Amino acid sequence: MRLFTTVAALRCFLDLSRGKQPRSDEATEVLMGNPSLTVGLVPTMGALHGGHLSLIKRARRENKIVVVTIFVNPLQFGPNEDFDRYPRTLKADREFCKQANVDVIFAPTPQDIGIDHQQPTQVMPPQSMMSVMCSVSRPGHFEGVATIVTKLLNLVQPDRAYFGQKDAQQLAIIQRLVADLNLPIEVVPCEIVRESSGLALSSRNQYLSLEERNQAIALYRGLSQAEKAFRSGERLSANLIQAVKTELEKVPAMKSEYVELVNPITLAPLDQVEDRGLLAIAARLGTTRLIDNIRLQTRQPIVAIDGPAGAGKSTVVKLVAQALGLLYLDTGAMYRALTWLVLKSGVAIDDEPEIAELVSRCSIEFVNQPDSTRILINGQDVTEAIRTLEVTAQVSAIAAQAAVRKVLVRQQQQFGQRGGIVVEGRDIGTNVFPDAELKIFLTASVQERARRRQQDLKNQGKEEVDLKQLEQLIADRDRKDSTRTISPLRKADDAIELQTDPLSIDDVVKTIVRLYQDRA
Ligand code: AMP
Repeated sequence: MRLFTTVAALRCFLDLSRGKQPRSDEATEVLMGNPSLTVGLVPTMGALHGGHLSLIKRARRENKIVVVTIFVNPLQFGPNEDFDRYPRTLKADREFCKQANVDVIFAPTPQDIGIDHQQPTQVMPPQSMMSVMCSVSRPGHFEGVATIVTKLLNLVQPDRAYFGQKDAQQLAIIQRLVADLNLPIEVVPCEIVRESSGLALSSRNQYLSLEERNQAIALYRGLSQAEKAFRSGERLSANLIQAVKTELEKVPAMKSEYVELVNPITLAPLDQVEDRGLLAIAARLGTTRLIDNIRLQTRQPIVAIDGPAGAGKSTVVKLVAQALGLLYLDTGAMYRALTWLVLKSGVAIDDEPEIAELVSRCSIEFVNQPDSTRILINGQDVTEAIRTLEVTAQVSAIAAQAAVRKVLVRQQQQFGQRGGIVVEGRDIGTNVFPDAELKIFLTASVQERARRRQQDLKNQGKEEVDLKQLEQLIADRDRKDSTRTISPLRKADDAIELQTDPLSIDDVVKTIVRLYQDRA
């Protein structure tokens, strides 16, 4: 692991890693840049704990290089805030990062990073996102956050940047910033990590006395009470907020700063929750300011089924959807529909910019009919047309293009907004619907998948293929799928693995239906 404190060193390391700059001893080996070298950034203020670790672990899984920045950002502290006493524990943080297999810590001083002068250029998030929640008592805070995050994103130029849901307003503002400034970065939101008591982990918890630690649990208790009321059908903000306040009021030492219910993306205050809301609190215990939040959503559950090719996902997904009365979101059909459009438009399969243009402008719809689901692209029904050999032959080449994947994943997420879907793929539970209620990782041994494939071919009256040869093909495909730069095959941490070697399709479907019902 490397630790850098200067911009020059960080840039030099990243340039060398990306192969953009020749090493002095390899002057002739000027590479064009290494596109498969993905970089994940985890910005922190240090005093690292389990919450940070969850971000680092996720970044570690998803990227070749993990950069953790440790910087107590003066721009985001007000004059009477805890900038001077904020815990600075670089030595321990260094060990923490080493254990977590981080590649680089970037820990600059304000001078190193160029914000020591009086009036640095600032990034200004939308006023509407800064008139609520923490902005009210912390004027200037989010300008400071947005400015430093923009600097870090520019310096590191990561593929992905990881932020905790714990700081929900910060997360929403950064997501907006990245979208509004067209930064080519994926913002990855990470769930709140809590102690077993429910208290959200925070570097500021160090300030709490033992008594205050116990009192601080009221934040989570309040949110949990509101969630309970929400689950029983309460939708009015005033009542949900009151449920939180009632719990907070039980701790006289707790001085509530705000309890607000807002739209989690725009942060606009809500009178009632239509489909989703963010219920957030800030409160003071003694001199310590604590924040916490919870998301409330009414959408129906999502079942995400991932797993290696040939494990039976596409057969199972339709049957599960039928058995549960949910909609089968056929993501494969979306890629096929686009492939059909590309072929029809006469665009070359490898003309990625032209295909990016096409996919960004196309509209795909699923229309439910009594006996089938039709798929339309730009208003044209292509349900049958997408099953031709020509489309089948080209669909993987098109689905592998980054721009195509990005746009279609966004569309899938839009289809999933109301929930009530079953969907299968390679990265549905990890990337497309990380908040799916039920995630299944359907798998089978290479030998079993080869045997099933051989049987399928036989049933289709095709020439017999050697079992060993099929095993080899399947093993090669597994390797390719799990090492892809874009959306590799990976079991989500919270997915349930179903090894289907000894199971019939009927058994698999019944198991998934039972798991779904157990969770309901
Ligand atoms: P901080 O060091 O407090 O600025 O936090 C750095 C990042 O870690 C931010 O994206 C936080 O949202 C995230 N984070 C802090 N605490 C937690 C937690 N308990 N669970 C998940 N993420 C967290």
